[in-house]
Amino acid sequence: MDIYFYNTLTKKKEKFVPLDENEVRMYSCGPTVYDYSHIGNLRAYLFMDSLRRTLKYNGYKLKHVMNITDVGHLTSDADEGEDKMMKAARRENKDPWQIAQYYMDVFLEDLKKLNIDIPEIIARATEHIDVMEQYVKKIIENGYTYQTEDTVYFDTSKLPNYGILSGKNVEEQKAGARVDFDSNKKNVSDFALWIKAPKEHIMQWDSFFGKSYPGWHLECSAMGYKYLGEEFDIHTGGIDHIPIHHENEIAQAQGFCGKIPARFWMHVNFLKIDGGKVSKSLNNFYTLSDLKERGFEPEVFRMFNYSSSYRNALNYTWEGMDASKKALIKLKEGYKNHLNGKDDIATEVINKYEEEFHQAINDDLNMPQALSVVWELIKYPQKSKRIADLLLKFDTVLALKIDEQMENNETEKNIPQEIIELAEKRKKARENKDWAESDRLRDLILEKGYTIKDTKDGYEF
Ligand code: AMP
Ligand code: ZN
Repeated sequence: MDIYFYNTLTKKKEKFVPLDENEVRMYSCGPTVYDYSHIGNLRAYLFMDSLRRTLKYNGYKLKHVMNITDVGHLTSDADEGEDKMMKAARRENKDPWQIAQYYMDVFLEDLKKLNIDIPEIIARATEHIDVMEQYVKKIIENGYTYQTEDTVYFDTSKLPNYGILSGKNVEEQKAGARVDFDSNKKNVSDFALWIKAPKEHIMQWDSFFGKSYPGWHLECSAMGYKYLGEEFDIHTGGIDHIPIHHENEIAQAQGFCGKIPARFWMHVNFLKIDGGKVSKSLNNFYTLSDLKERGFEPEVFRMFNYSSSYRNALNYTWEGMDASKKALIKLKEGYKNHLNGKDDIATEVINKYEEEFHQAINDDLNMPQALSVVWELIKYPQKSKRIADLLLKFDTVLALKIDEQMENNETEKNIPQEIIELAEKRKKARENKDWAESDRLRDLILEKGYTIKDTKDGYEF
């Protein structure tokens, strides 16, 4: 069956056929490991996983690379500010190597908890410095750069089509630029390829540019080339990558070998929380542990994500999570009913639903549509093991562990939102060592009929 994906590069839904008949080669921009992943970040990897699983469902083998950024990503994507790793090291009074190792491990654990298939190749930037150095030398040799005292810049005005992905050219970027853009750059869209390391920058290497380190964008071009070649099938990331990071990856590849590295560029839209941004200052930087604390297993968050296409912004609410949890419990029960069913089902019926599901996922990963096929099957009046088997097959894409009992699904754990808010307030009070307020809130929660216990990670009811 044909597959169609929306391609940001051509701004159209296009038929997808890989360069190699049997294998799809793809690259996903991974995390910068300077903090925990919040649920917005995790939406991006759930999208990546749906893509992987859909391709596998269609019979393709995968060669999929995901990078781990552990050096060179400055506070702003456009090369301003400090290296995020250094900033985190200072915040936690550790060295950046410890920071990288810790947050990378937590990230990979999060993927496991969400039942996300780990890509075949996980590539850490700091383990590919030599690959990046070779890559940048070729860009320099090909005449696409200029150097200042402390930075090698890519000269975007050397490319006729810089801005091809976002549709902004160099001149337009100049016109829209803030007046105070780094005056060492010739064009506002130019970006750092290689940077001289000040003494305090702990992650630094001896290279053609003295003691130095690579710019963030370079790692994806160089590691993509190393593992997937000059041209591969799909490149994924978040929509925030379109105007700078992916534009710059394309520029680098063109400077390196004259080619746009991937044929399909796919981008996942943002998760918003109560309609706004995810941020620490808004106190809504929720992680999987926060979800668990409120009684939601990771697969509930997966289910929640299927309520919208990856291309639409998705608004996160606790009410929405409640509904997803109930739906998932119902789905698992429905599967069991079919598993124990003794009715006969005609092969045509099975084939019809198989086809509908397959069509939905092949239509640019239309998960809401795929789920509606699942619900029709769950509600099918005859109960049959054949339907249960088909649901299990669908679950190779949905990855909801449909045949497993969910932890934490007892109804008494469905704590009302009001009580959870009081518990969160109390947690904050305890963090601030405001014991009187903490006791007051505990009594209030008790008055409302709930008992709260403090645990190592926070609280439970
Ligand atoms: P970072 O670790 O900051 O580089 O981000 C990791 C990934 O999460 C990137 O692919 C971003 O595009 C993506 N991302 C960041 N915030 C959100 C959000 N609120 N919703 C969805 N994806 C996000
Ligand atoms: Zn990248």
